[in-house]
Amino acid sequence: MSENLRAAIIQDDVTSQILMLGWMDEEALALTKSTGLVHFFSRSRQTLWKKGETSGNTMHVIEIIADCDDDALVVRVSADGPACHDGSTSCFTPWLWRRILQREQAGDESSYVVRQLNAGVGANAQKVGEEATEVVVAALSESDERLVSEAADLWFHLLLTLRARGLDPAAIENELRARVKD
Ligand SMILES: [Zn+2]
Repeated sequence: MSENLRAAIIQDDVTSQILMLGWMDEEALALTKSTGLVHFFSRSRQTLWKKGETSGNTMHVIEIIADCDDDALVVRVSADGPACHDGSTSCFTPWLWRRILQREQAGDESSYVVRQLNAGVGANAQKVGEEATEVVVAALSESDERLVSEAADLWFHLLLTLRARGLDPAAIENELRARVKD
């Protein structure tokens, strides 16, 4: 066990989204500072590793902030790609989005997600249009259960449309956050 392991919270410098949590020993922290690229100490493998050394998704350090007793760090970064091994921008990804990415990675044609993504942006955008109409009908004249069901269909196909365009729902949250003027 390495001495002085610090928890390192990795945060996107532009969006402030929390991307991942890693651990840094003295060596990992020193390398992170000297190279400007995030390095961690892997507790499971007991080795030093550079974030992105296999995936290419390295993280460039913008700022390192230590907490009051210097056993935790916030590292603000500019990331070259998704933080998570499953392709998500952040390791703290909502459940549904994670499931979609997992299905896509598995590539099993019996999966609805895989078939819809293979069908492309147009097929998913069309579903969004259909489901939006059904949400309107349910909202105006049907039960709460029906509205929830149709809203789930709309939400799901909206996420598939984003994925088909190579976008991440975090982009929507950032857009909405940017509109808040307070
Ligand atoms: Zn992850």
